[in-house]
Amino acid sequence: DMTIAPISADLPEEETQAMVFFYEVTSLLRTERMRVDFVANASHELRTPLSSLMGSIETLLGPAQDDPEAQQRFLQIMQKEAERMARLIDDLLSLSRIEMSRHVPPSTTVDVSLIVGNAISTVLPIARRRDMQFSAELLSALPKVRADEDQITQVMLNLLVNASKYADQGTIVHISGALSNTGKHVILSIRDEGPGIAAEHLARLTERFYRVDTARSRKMGGTGLGLAIVKHILLRHESQLDIRSQLGKGTTFSFRLPIAAEKTPSAA
Ligand code: ADP
Repeated sequence: DMTIAPISADLPEEETQAMVFFYEVTSLLRTERMRVDFVANASHELRTPLSSLMGSIETLLGPAQDDPEAQQRFLQIMQKEAERMARLIDDLLSLSRIEMSRHVPPSTTVDVSLIVGNAISTVLPIARRRDMQFSAELLSALPKVRADEDQITQVMLNLLVNASKYADQGTIVHISGALSNTGKHVILSIRDEGPGIAAEHLARLTERFYRVDTARSRKMGGTGLGLAIVKHILLRHESQLDIRSQLGKGTTFSFRLPIAAEKTPSAA
């Protein structure tokens, strides 16, 4: 996102070097800044459930000592907060594993209709609780893609879980596949009939811990890392998440994956 103007050939060499150096330092500082912000945010996100846990323990040891009903209530709070911390840690570990795999291009051949099928079965219990349904179209006819199966399953899961959490109760989540114009990619789309996302949020949606409505995200058990995970997996696949939304109508998330090369019959 930061472009450097072409360096004119008749600039003295020291000046060219100074410009390159300046560019590298600013981008290093930006990376460092993002890293510091991330550690601060992650610590804060972990501190919140931990404080609640400590508060509950204090109450159990003190005021609630002889009150079995209150004990039950506080233990349930503790269970929820411990689960939140576990989810956060799992997501943080996923992110760091994905980043470690960043320089290794995915090399396996993957059937997207199987991935979508598996992801739907995993999310179904969440969707059922909100009386929602999935509709999948045109997936079985698609060619295979070159991708990391586990990672693309994670992408589908995160997008389907979000649609099931944020779209209106009783609505349908549409999953569809198509060939790109060039015929070199498969494009997968997940469209919900939810409240939509205001334009000013769209560009920041895949940032770690960015949420449109923090209270709603928390209530639905979100960590704020789901779309950041999606973004980083897609980066490894040389792809990106396209988000289109209309307030009151719904949101469509889509991304493309390269079609796997046909095996040559005699590649000996
Ligand atoms: P979270 O754990 O909060 O769901 P995500 O990174 O998965 O974190 O999503 C970031 C934010 O984007 C969410 O908090 C929510 O505000 C918004 N969002 C994600 N998916 C949808 C959707 N399908 N419809 C409306 N808002 C969404």
